[in-house]
Amino acid sequence: MEQQGVILKGIGGFYYVETALGVFECRAKGKFRKERLTPLAGDHVTVTLREGQENTIDSISPRKNALGRPPVANVDQLLIVVSAAKPVPNPFVIDKLTAIAERKHIHPVLIFSKSDLASVETWVNIYRTTGYPVLLNTDLDEIRAILKDKCSALTGNTGAGKSTLLNALCPELELPTGEISEKLGRGRHTTRHAELFHVADGLVIDTAGFSSLDSLKEETPAPEELETLFPEFEPFLGQCRFTTCAHTGEKGCRVCEAVKAGEISESRYQSYLQLRQEAKDRLPW
Ligand code: ZN
Repeated sequence: MEQQGVILKGIGGFYYVETALGVFECRAKGKFRKERLTPLAGDHVTVTLREGQENTIDSISPRKNALGRPPVANVDQLLIVVSAAKPVPNPFVIDKLTAIAERKHIHPVLIFSKSDLASVETWVNIYRTTGYPVLLNTDLDEIRAILKDKCSALTGNTGAGKSTLLNALCPELELPTGEISEKLGRGRHTTRHAELFHVADGLVIDTAGFSSLDSLKEETPAPEELETLFPEFEPFLGQCRFTTCAHTGEKGCRVCEAVKAGEISESRYQSYLQLRQEAKDRLPW
């Protein structure tokens, strides 16, 4: 019987596909190997279910996007959980993630934990002009609404409270939290498979075991595309005096003027400059 479904996880050549009839263990057809196509968690697939025989994945729908680490496809949004207090977050790390997400057509969502009003205000000010949702980890209803019917990747630095947040949203998950369980978790997650969980009517990929904030490094953008990965730059692009303007302090640069006028946050602009420098340093001679 043919069914449509979504791959929740793949382990050792077996894929767990959720269909309208439930979750089924499936094998990928041999043709995918010839096509060098590996099914990923998040893939929308057609499967054939057979009574007493091996179920197969017959086709994989074209992907909206795919990440390498964690290996997952069709991610709609990246939830970046950031501790507003200790450990002190680095805006550059956040902005690198948002740029990488933009490049993959993944919407960034910022969620601040351990917040006090003063520290949160600083962050809200930085991201005010990006259009990204900026939420507190206590805004559970808003977060649930954002997760609904979407596939979300969750990332955040150690101690930012990803597991605490997931447990608050979905107590059935019973994810271990705190220092001791993080130590245990390191051993438990060594298989590095990606798995999608149902949370608040959406699918969420648990990034435990992936060095979360570093895991997207391989996806770093090229210097010339960076301007398009900062949505708040968009109204000013194409308006600089020089068509080749890199917005690094050139005469008649509209982006630089917008930074001075407070229409683009200084912190975000500094991240742009730093990302651009990193990208240039990586270019071949
Ligand atoms: Zn410019």
